[in-house]
Amino acid sequence: MSAAATTQTTTQDLREQALDGTPLHGTLVIDNHCHIDPAAHFYQPFNDADGMVRTMDRVGMDQACVFSSMAILLDMRGGNDISLAAARRYPGRLLAYGVPDPHEADLVRDELQRCLDEGAVGIKLHTSVANYPFDGPGYLPAFELADRHRLPLISHGTGTPDTLRRIARDYPGCHFIVAHAGGGSPSNSRDLVQVAAEEPNVYLDTAASVGYLGDFTEMVRLAGANKILYGSDMPWTCATYQLGRVLLSPITDDEKRRILGENLAELFKTKR
Ligand SMILES: [Zn+2]
Repeated sequence: MSAAATTQTTTQDLREQALDGTPLHGTLVIDNHCHIDPAAHFYQPFNDADGMVRTMDRVGMDQACVFSSMAILLDMRGGNDISLAAARRYPGRLLAYGVPDPHEADLVRDELQRCLDEGAVGIKLHTSVANYPFDGPGYLPAFELADRHRLPLISHGTGTPDTLRRIARDYPGCHFIVAHAGGGSPSNSRDLVQVAAEEPNVYLDTAASVGYLGDFTEMVRLAGANKILYGSDMPWTCATYQLGRVLLSPITDDEKRRILGENLAELFKTKR
């Protein structure tokens, strides 16, 4: 990077910083979509709290929202304990999200309340792993708590665009985040992006296992940079690849900064 670029913080220098491999110091970066602890079937390097913070330091990431793979796949309470312990180990760097198991609907409200009492700042649903509908009764306590406390709630799977719109209007205090809106996952569709463009409490997550040329930029154009939150899905995917999709895109540095961290920081401030 040229000396001039390193001293400029307000001009269009994020693209150059990314190509240079420089950690993103000076830019608030909050990853809204991270899995902690191992999961079966594929390779997840650096998947514990220490490994995640090591990755974050390497790329210049300030904070990461973590939800437990075990909570999603096997054991709600045991998995949530892992996320809560990680947040205690790295206060202010790792932010725990509680995960409900909708098949244990009777336990969901108390378990999520326990997570909030012990420091969780958001909620994560994974409807496809749970094989459970987004608007099924097992998730209602999650929506109610997020609505009451004005929390972010990220969901992998949000039903049809009409379902998402209805739930978002029923729980206006909840900040709904459509996981994997920025890529070629089955949950991605232009109609969901349109819901985010129109509903004030619906946001889009950039994490994508497969990204197609132009789809991220199209999402920014349709929904606006204020409605998009950076997510990597790390360590299920690679943090630098996901960051590059934002940093190298043909949008302004102001838009990139909103997406990379400023939008989510503002959502966290609404907590009550
Ligand atoms: Zn994920």
